[in-house]
Amino acid sequence: MTDASLPPLREVIAAHGLWAKKALGQNFLLDANLLGRIARVPGPLDGATVYEVGPGPGGLTRAILQAGARRVIAVEMDSRCWPALEELGAWSGNRLELIRGDALKVDEPTLLGTGPVHIIANLPYNVGTALLVRWLTTRDWPPFWASLTLMFQREVAQRIIAAPGSEAYGRLSVLAQWRACPRIAFDVPAKAFTPPPKVTSSVVHITPAEPLADVPVGALEAVTAAAFGQRRKMLRASLKSLGGDPAALLDDTGIDGERRAETLSIAEFCTLARAWTALRKADAGKG
Ligand code: SAM
Repeated sequence: MTDASLPPLREVIAAHGLWAKKALGQNFLLDANLLGRIARVPGPLDGATVYEVGPGPGGLTRAILQAGARRVIAVEMDSRCWPALEELGAWSGNRLELIRGDALKVDEPTLLGTGPVHIIANLPYNVGTALLVRWLTTRDWPPFWASLTLMFQREVAQRIIAAPGSEAYGRLSVLAQWRACPRIAFDVPAKAFTPPPKVTSSVVHITPAEPLADVPVGALEAVTAAAFGQRRKMLRASLKSLGGDPAALLDDTGIDGERRAETLSIAEFCTLARAWTALRKADAGKG
């Protein structure tokens, strides 16, 4: 089949009764130009493997296939969308492999192997953030993914790229920046979606980078969760939730306990996480 033999997306949606369900966070993109622009964000996809989460009626999936991806593995939990995606799979010459289920439950190492895959997704906010954290905190680095191209509410996108000292700077900024490079590729107005959400969205592009420091990712997660969990408090108070004495930890790092989480650079968070790991090892040795 040729591109021209694909029915317009609106027809696919009508034929399969795919009215958007709020509970599944469904806001569909139907504009072929915009979908093509998103599919170009990772760079050329010729011969690439793509993991798409939440393909819905398959608009973005089409764009990815049309961009030349050799293999697209797409996971969708709404069974109403499966027949439409199966049709697209047949059109693609079996380049599309459909996983019927919840992306949060997918065993990615088994499904995707060691990669590299480009991950592309337009997901509901809560699912997108949970998956982003999962992808950013994989133990192995470089990870199995070559790039992430993800749609977020603009406010979440700004948290991902935020610099220290800004209101948006938080745990997500540190996890996204200590060993990866995130950028906002472009904004997408609410009216581009069917139905339109209440807020503007942004396409975020993230590529892996050299880690800023040699730190166990679990320690960085713990330290940022404690520090930003009570972001208005001074570190000497907020870090108490880590257990142990924050004074010893702060002394070891030379970081002033009167500072607040949002003033720490990403390198300083790495220093804190390293020192916390060392202190825990020393404590375990005493026990
Ligand atoms: N990619 C399509 C587009 O751009 O038009 C659909 C986007 S819509 C915002 C999100 C899609 O993700 C829906 O099709 C929804 O059913 C699916 N979805 C939501 N949660 C999911 C999950 N946990 N696992 C797999 N798919 C999910």
